[in-house]
Formats: sequence, structure tokens, C-alpha cells
Amino acid sequence: MKLLFERSVPGRKQTIFPDLDVPEVSFDQTLLRDKAPRLPQMAEVDLGRHYTELAKQTHGVNDGFYPLGSCTMKYNPRVNEQVSALSGFTDIHPLQPAETAQGCLRAMYELEGMLAEICGMDAMTLQPAAGAHGEYTGLLLIRAHHLAKGDTARTKIIVPDSAHGTNPASAVMAGFTVVSVPSNEAGGVDLDALRAAVGEDTAGLMLTNPNTLGLFDPNILEICRIVHEAGGLCYYDGANLNAVMGHARPGDMGFDCVHVNLHKTFSTPHGGGGPGSGPVGCKAFLAPYLPGPQVTKSADGSFSFVQPEQSVGKVRSFYGNFLVTVRALAYILTLGKEGIPEASEAAVLNANYLAHLLSKAGYTLPYGERCMHEFVIDVGPLKAETGASAMDVAKRLLDFDVHPPTMYFPLIVHEALMVEPTETESRETLDEFVSLMTNILAEAREDGERLHGAPFTRPIGRPDEVTAARKPCLHYVFDEEA
Ligand SMILES: *Cc1c(COP(=O)(O)O)cnc(C)c1O
Repeated sequence: MKLLFERSVPGRKQTIFPDLDVPEVSFDQTLLRDKAPRLPQMAEVDLGRHYTELAKQTHGVNDGFYPLGSCTMKYNPRVNEQVSALSGFTDIHPLQPAETAQGCLRAMYELEGMLAEICGMDAMTLQPAAGAHGEYTGLLLIRAHHLAKGDTARTKIIVPDSAHGTNPASAVMAGFTVVSVPSNEAGGVDLDALRAAVGEDTAGLMLTNPNTLGLFDPNILEICRIVHEAGGLCYYDGANLNAVMGHARPGDMGFDCVHVNLHKTFSTPHGGGGPGSGPVGCKAFLAPYLPGPQVTKSADGSFSFVQPEQSVGKVRSFYGNFLVTVRALAYILTLGKEGIPEASEAAVLNANYLAHLLSKAGYTLPYGERCMHEFVIDVGPLKAETGASAMDVAKRLLDFDVHPPTMYFPLIVHEALMVEPTETESRETLDEFVSLMTNILAEAREDGERLHGAPFTRPIGRPDEVTAARKPCLHYVFDEEA
């Protein structure tokens, strides 16, 4: 499609300024630019059509099924948007005195309490702006804890090989070195490998449970015990709490510190870069190190900000992505104590329903049919049989207005398709997906080579994703620059 600059017609415009009705003022003419900015010149209707055309080429939860494993692309109730758009939340200034923004402080305080309850933690910070940012913040708490004890030898963070890529990255950012432990045959942490990995240099362990294979590790208590006995702390990657919220709490499993992604589990629209929010919770002994300021409630019911005594410092300006936290508060209050566990039950039921039917249809599930909120298909056997890869299956789904599952992750399954239906999808939608996947399987068996050409109906089919990510073309190249 044509870009705005290519649609531009000199002199075409859409603004009609009213006549000047205030006194004209003079200013330093040297401040004027030499040339007018090269903005596209077009009528409002053409501009509107341009953006509508762009919007039609994207895919969101409102367009269709979006089973992007680990990313939890679920429907976000509109009421959250309405609440976060209330002027009492939007028309405030981060530097305004706390006495004049009591409602906002209360919203933060209450959300912190609810998240701490859901996670089994004692304290919470809403500052981190994303999951990876939360991991980094949590690791700073762990570091501060060891250093406060004068223990400078604990420099290593243990991360299972099924971990989300942000885990090792955050550990390195926080100044640690990473020790990888392999998964066992059931997809959980290999206990012997973990025992061999821990020692006096262990700062902690980072774990996702259920992990990225969608499996809850039955050895979780033992895993935390091994790490604690070695003097390390346990960090829970709770980016995706969809399978366990209201049922199992990281704090009860033995974890000391956790982050949650409000933009996955707690219903903030995401994708396309945010804004997100990755609050961090911790047990009481880590609370003195939390980023400040923290909201506190006085005996008279008023709210104010306090600085934790040995705070690791701010990790983000002001109070995090406040309006994202308001959406999460609205979501949790809407569902309530009964609705939260019901949502995770439906997420797990939907995932198991799909896993069972896709397995029956002929797809390979390397870790069995029972899963939590997501599961991984191994397209490897199909590729060996027909030549069609995980990429081919994913690309073919685009022709039917379905967003592909997460591809080639986790890394321990080479032709992985990671499917997360979420709780907000109906049985009809799931059945339709199964029938699509069944048809694609038949197509692959008929002519696996043909699927290398999919998608057949999209304006862009197989972009060079590495170049697109590494050398993005972010501005229009004018003739004179070319
Ligand atoms: C999404 C995700 C993250 C990272 O969250 P961001 O908000 O993208 O930084 C970390 N761990 C797991 C398991 C995730 O699914």
C-alpha cells in the first residue's frame, strides 16, 4: 500500500484556521526554521482511509483467535478502559502533593495488596514497566539481600533451559552470571542437575511454574528447598499467572520474590510494544530493598509515600505505568475472589481441550496431553514426513485469519508451536481452530512443499524478520536523501 508521503499532493490540506482574534506578538525570527517541514499534505478523509487500511492489515484479539503461547492474548473487558479513562486518574500530575491525589494512592495501595495476596507475598512495587523489567528489579532485591549480609561470593543465577529468554538476559543485566540447568524427560527441572549446580556462589534460581511447556513442576517444593539450603533465593517468573491465579501461590511454593505481567494475566491490551507493567512482589525480609516511593496507609485512613530504608533506588520515573495498574485493579475487582480462580480454571480447561483434540487429529505433543494454560506441539515428526515445518503451519493459519501460535519456543523443542487459547475463547472458536489445523495437516500430507509458499492471501508473507528487527526502516526516504 502507498505511504502517506506517496499520497501527498502539494497544497492539499485539512485545517481551516479561524481568523486571528488575539493580539499578534513578535518573536525572535532567527528561531524560525529555514524550510517548511516536509509533512504529507492531504485531506482528512484520505488520512482517515490510510490509517483504516493499515488497521485492517493488523490482527488483534478483536479480529479473531490469537493463541500466542506465553503471551496471553486474551480479551480485555472494555470496562477496564472506561475506568482507566476517568478524569480523576488521567488529569493528575506525578509531582502533585499526595494529599491532593488520595484516590490514586488508594488505587495503588489496594492493587498492591491484591497482587500480594494472589502471589502469596508480603510487599509489592508497581514501578517496573514490563516483565523483564520486573525480573531485573527482583534480582536487584536478591543482590541487595546477599550484599547486606556481606556475602559477596553469590554471583550466579540458576536458570532452567526451558526459561523465557528474558530470564538469563535480566540476570546478566543485574550483574550475575547465568548457570543453565537442563530439563528432565517430563519437562521439569532435573533435580540432580540442580543439586550439582547449587553452591556457595549461588545467588538464586529463576523459575517459571507452570513452565513454558505448560507444565507444573511437581517437585517445586523440593526445588526451592535445594536452593534455600544452598543459601540462594528463589525468584518466580509470574509473567503468566493464568493457570494458577486463585489456586496456587508462588509464596506458598517457597518463592521469595516474583513479578507478574499485568499486560498478560491482568487484562491490559498488549502487543506492539506496550505500555505494560511488571509489578514485583517479595517476602517481608526483602521489602526494605524495594524501589521507592511506596504507598503507605496511616491509622487515620490517609495515604502517603514512604521510601524503603535500604531501597535499591528507583527503577522507573515516578510510579510506573499508573493507568495500566488501574486497568488491573478494575479487572481484579470485576472478577472478585470467585472469578479469579474461575478464569484460570477456564484457561486450563481450554488448553487441555485443544491439546487433546490436536493430539487426536495427528499432531505430536512431546510432553503428553495434560497441560496447564498452554502446551507445545512438536511439528518435527510432520516435517520429517512431509517437509512442512512449524513455520509453514503457522504461516498457513494466517490465510484463515488466525494469529499463529508462538513459534520455535521454548528452544528445547526444535519445531515448536506453543499454543495458549486463554479462558476468553468459546468452544466454537476452539473447534474451528482444530478443524483448521486438521485441514493444514491434510494439506501437508498431500503436498508439504506447497505450504512453503503460505500465506497465499496476505500482502506480506515471509518478511526477512532478522533484517526487519536489526535494520528497521523507520522513516521515509525522500528523493534527495536516496
Ligand atoms: C512475557 C514473558 C516475560 C517477559 O515479559 P515482558 O513484559 O515482555 O518483558 C518473561 N517471562 C515469561 C514467562 C513471559 O511469558
